[in-house]
Amino acid sequence: MRKKNLRDEVDELISEDSLAEEGEEGSILARTPLPGDEEILLPSLRPRKFNEFIGQQAIVEKLRVFIAAARERGEPLDHTLLLGPPGLGKTTLANVIAAEMGVQIRITSGPVLNRAGDVAALLTGLRQGDVLFIDEIHRLSKNVEEVLYPAMEDYHFDVLIGKGPTARSLRMKVQPFTLVGATTREGDVSAPLRTRFGVVSRIDYYTNEELTRLIESVAAKLQYPVTPEAAHEIARRARGTPRVAIRMFKRMRDVAQVNKCNSVDLPTVETGMQMLQVDRMGLDYIDRKILDILLRRFDGGPVSLDTLAVSVGEEADTIYDVYESFLIQIGFIARTSRGRIATRAAWEYLGMRPPEPTVTQNQLRFDE
Ligand code: ADP
Repeated sequence: MRKKNLRDEVDELISEDSLAEEGEEGSILARTPLPGDEEILLPSLRPRKFNEFIGQQAIVEKLRVFIAAARERGEPLDHTLLLGPPGLGKTTLANVIAAEMGVQIRITSGPVLNRAGDVAALLTGLRQGDVLFIDEIHRLSKNVEEVLYPAMEDYHFDVLIGKGPTARSLRMKVQPFTLVGATTREGDVSAPLRTRFGVVSRIDYYTNEELTRLIESVAAKLQYPVTPEAAHEIARRARGTPRVAIRMFKRMRDVAQVNKCNSVDLPTVETGMQMLQVDRMGLDYIDRKILDILLRRFDGGPVSLDTLAVSVGEEADTIYDVYESFLIQIGFIARTSRGRIATRAAWEYLGMRPPEPTVTQNQLRFDE
């Protein structure tokens, strides 16, 4: 039988896509942890110390130095902002920082902390050196941010007691602490908040080699063997994202188990990925829908994020964080001042001819 090339595979998947209905929620690419995720079921899968944390060498080395220096001085680590798409390990890194500093971590998120009183209660509960982790920090309200500023700078904040002319302000002290903020939206973090972070680190997509190691270590922890070729194949399709790699491995394990195969091998991965409608580049049904709409309906763009999201039927946040950032990473889409445009690689992927003139790499650089 002729070996399928990527073109045949994409065509086949596109015809199957018309039958797919599963959206981002509950899918393998869901932005937030799902009830079945190992990080919830089996917290021991989450790396606890730097030596268990795979990849991101530059960030890890930098943090190791800062942590060692802070510990030597007996001070908390500087406030740290972690940037990057979902599932790349921001929460994990915040936990590792706390463990390496030998302190407790309190975890919350921007949308949950909607009143100044909520953050005040959290801050006063912190002990010397503790880490306060705020996920989605770009979604903090203005009044919560205003409580945080003096707390971050001078370890105090003011609360207003009473109302009207008799109202008075009371100064509350906070124990020296480290705020670790995480965001997928660097541009939406307000300037005054951002300048109060001493350390800013951008977490990048992982290499296939790093994800292969991650899958092998997860397989060992879950005690379900994976062959080296299968681990590599899952890694290749996992969009540079540990959370996706772990979820994919779990699905492949299901396929292996049902087929009475006592390890996840290459044929299992081929079958499993076909079920998930994930192609060899890691693109799934929604990615193909985005590209299809961008190319066929909008002639390759430019098109705004909101228009694209409405056409695809997904939330703009999801398109931005999960799909578009990966399609940009692999060079299929570019963000320009006029909107999103498809590159030549995207036209080739869908087996279509781009209208002339197409966007060249040089123009892209110029636009960005
Ligand atoms: P984020 O906070 O960026 O959305 P998480 O920290 O929740 O991502 O990570 C998602 C999953 O991937 C977790 O199960 C975590 O254990 C795993 N993970 C992330 N980064 C790494 C890493 N560098 N090494 C090992 N496992 C990782």
